[in-house]
Amino acid sequence: MSEPDSKGLRALIDKHRIPCKILDKHPLQTKEPVLMDFKCIEALLGLPEFRVIGQVLGPTQLDLHLERRDTDIVCPRCQTCCSRVKESRPRCLRDLPILERPVMLWLHLRRFECRGCRHRPWETSTTFGARTKWTVRLYNRVREEFLRGCPCKELARRYGLSERTVFRWTFERSRGGRPRKLGRALGIDEYARRKGHRYNTLIVDLDKGKPIVTLKGRRADDVVAWFRSRAQDELARVEVVVLDMSKAFFAAIQEVFGDQVHIIDRFHVVQQAVEALDAVLGSVKKQLAKDEAKELKKLRKRWLQSADQLNVAELLARYEWQRRFPALRETIAWVQDLRTWFERTYTKPAREALLKLIERASQSAQEPLQRVAGTLTRWCDPIVRYIRHRYSNGMTEGFNNKIKLIQRMAYGLRNEHNRRKRILAWCGAP
Ligand SMILES: [Zn+2]
Repeated sequence: MSEPDSKGLRALIDKHRIPCKILDKHPLQTKEPVLMDFKCIEALLGLPEFRVIGQVLGPTQLDLHLERRDTDIVCPRCQTCCSRVKESRPRCLRDLPILERPVMLWLHLRRFECRGCRHRPWETSTTFGARTKWTVRLYNRVREEFLRGCPCKELARRYGLSERTVFRWTFERSRGGRPRKLGRALGIDEYARRKGHRYNTLIVDLDKGKPIVTLKGRRADDVVAWFRSRAQDELARVEVVVLDMSKAFFAAIQEVFGDQVHIIDRFHVVQQAVEALDAVLGSVKKQLAKDEAKELKKLRKRWLQSADQLNVAELLARYEWQRRFPALRETIAWVQDLRTWFERTYTKPAREALLKLIERASQSAQEPLQRVAGTLTRWCDPIVRYIRHRYSNGMTEGFNNKIKLIQRMAYGLRNEHNRRKRILAWCGAP
């Protein structure tokens, strides 16, 4: 925004080019800024509880004076309506800029006098918190933009804040990157610091929905060393650790907590089965002509859904394919059974059912199914433990995606401390 001028084009005229005579006759009105329409400001503000009663356009910011729309309040003592204003007190809040000018809101909260009982109640606002000096929307916007990589200085200028405030708001929740306390249920996963090169470990509190820490490396030693650095009473609290089928994490957790806490994330188990199905599909496809193979590929996605989600044509197609290729029929049925297995409620029958499923796979003629049977046998106990605790690593995977985003926006974070701070500040519930 350049000079605010209601008479449009006049602002574009260079004063020095105008002959003195004309300038004397029609002095350019640059001294007094033309103010915005109050209705227009109210529309931009979006605070229906308030009306604008004044504005001051300063060199660095726009001050808006607001008053509540209600002209009376109900006396809290005698419940009569009082409309006599005794005094008012301004309170200021920083808000989002309007037309790129930082905005300061001045709320003039009034004190009324009750005619009946002489009580003098203050009015209160429902829109803003009692003590904050800024609006929530400003706070959220500043955090978000800083975490997305906008420079602190630029944000401070744009929103009329100090650089310290921008910094404090953004990293308040990260507590300077210090690890949080361990909870009852943990999720553990790895993410790439640099793709294919270096990996980090992420540990998440699954009950609170927050990351606890992220540390360098993904080897068992790294994880064990970190857990050993925690207090003993914190470690005693941990009952459940959800992991994918990673041997390093398994070994680390076993060393720290013994072998009763592991749970294998159910989506990773199903993923193994789906990969086996894809391998079988691949071998079937080799026996087909090109256009038929294409059709099979199209159908694959829909096949894994349960029968009631398919329409009649798809059901028939599935039936037809299964009739032609028994290998396909066997694998699809097995994958479906494995998926429904996770819906079970009781541990003991679930264990027996899983053993039966594994047995079925190992006796199959399909080589991919046999391989899955081997994997599941190795991880059998941690998989069965899912039935009792029902924790999955969905949240951890979600944070992993967010971390990828954070790293990409910062063009790869070199500084480990900085990375941890950003991740703890950004991921999870406030
Ligand atoms: Zn009263």
